[in-house]
Amino acid sequence: MELWQLFTAEEEYRASLKDRYGRAPYWASKNRTVFTPVISEYLLQNGLRPHYPGNKKFAVCLTHDIDMLYNNISRKQLAKNGAKSLVTLNLQNLSKNLQAGLRKRINPHFHIAETLKIEKKYEAKSSSYFLSLSKEEEDFNYDLSEISEIFDAIAKSNGEVGLHGGHLASNNISKIRQEKEKLEAAIGRSVDGYRSHYLKFNTPSTWEHLETLNFKYDTTYGFADCAGFRNGMCHPFQPYSLEKKAFLNIVELPLVIMDNTLWKYMNLNEAGQFELCKQLIDTVARNNGVLTLLWHNTQMQGHPGLLYDAILKYANEKEAWMTTGNEIVDFWKENKFHEVTKNIFEELKNNRLPV
Ligand SMILES: [Zn+2]
Repeated sequence: MELWQLFTAEEEYRASLKDRYGRAPYWASKNRTVFTPVISEYLLQNGLRPHYPGNKKFAVCLTHDIDMLYNNISRKQLAKNGAKSLVTLNLQNLSKNLQAGLRKRINPHFHIAETLKIEKKYEAKSSSYFLSLSKEEEDFNYDLSEISEIFDAIAKSNGEVGLHGGHLASNNISKIRQEKEKLEAAIGRSVDGYRSHYLKFNTPSTWEHLETLNFKYDTTYGFADCAGFRNGMCHPFQPYSLEKKAFLNIVELPLVIMDNTLWKYMNLNEAGQFELCKQLIDTVARNNGVLTLLWHNTQMQGHPGLLYDAILKYANEKEAWMTTGNEIVDFWKENKFHEVTKNIFEELKNNRLPV
C-alpha cells in the first residue's frame, strides 16, 4: 500500500466486505499500521509544525454521542410490568411503574452533568452530538424539545452541541439536512460538527454531503472495531475525494478511541483498555497531534466512568489541550495548518511512496 492510498482510503471506494451496519471494518482493511499514524509522521517530516494554545504540545478532542437520556423502557414494557405487578399484587412495584410511565425522567446516570463534572476537574471542555429523530424512527429515545436543561448545562460549561446523524443519514443528504435544521431550531443556533450514529460512514459521499450542508467538521472517521488511526492520520485534515479529484471543504477530526471499541470489539480487559489508551495518547503527543475520544454519556458509571476520568487525568498530566471539536478546528484553520497540510499532500500525490 502507498501512503497516498492510505490517506485517501482508496480501498474503501471499492470495498466488498462491510459489516452489518455498512461500515468498513478494520479486519478487512489493508492498513496494518493502525497504531502508528504514518501519514501524520510523513507530514511532520515534511514541514507541518503544529502548536496549540498555551504552549501545549497536543490536543485531546473530548466528544460524547448522546444516544440515550431516558431508560429505554418502551410503553409496551411498562404496561407489561404494570400488569405483572397487578397479577402478583406487588403494589409498590405497580406504583413505581405507573409513576415512571406518567412522569418521564431523564436517567440521572445518563445526565450530562456527571460528565461535565469530571471534565471541569481537568479544565476540559467537550462536544456532545445529539440525535435529531422523530418518535417513529429507529433508536429514538428523547425529544429535542424536552431537554433544554441538558442544553443549558452544556452551554454553561462552554461545551459544543453537534449533530449525531441517525441510522438513515450517512447515505442521504436530505435526511442530514432535515436533522440539522431540527437540531438548530431546538438550540437556536447553527451546528458545526457531525458524528454518525454507529459510526456509519461512506467514503467519500458522507464527507461530500456534510460539505454541501456547510458543516465545519466531521468526527466519525475511525474504525468501530479497532482503536487507532484509520487512515494513518492523527491531525485534523481536509479529506481528498478520489472521485472529484479535489480536497473537500470540510475538516475531519479522525476518531481515535471509542469507549466500547475497547471492551466490546477489542475484548481488552480493564488493565489493557487503559494501557492502550495511554499508548495512543503518548503516540499522539509525540506527533503533536489531536486525539479524538468518544465516550458515551451512558458510560459514566462504574468502570467506564473511572476509566474516562483516568484517561483525562493522564492526558492532563501530559499537558494536553482538552477541548471541543469546534475550537480545535477553528484553531487549526486560524493557524493555516490545513493549508500547509494540503501543500504537502499535493507533493505526496505524485510520489508513489510505500507505507
Ligand atoms: Zn450513537
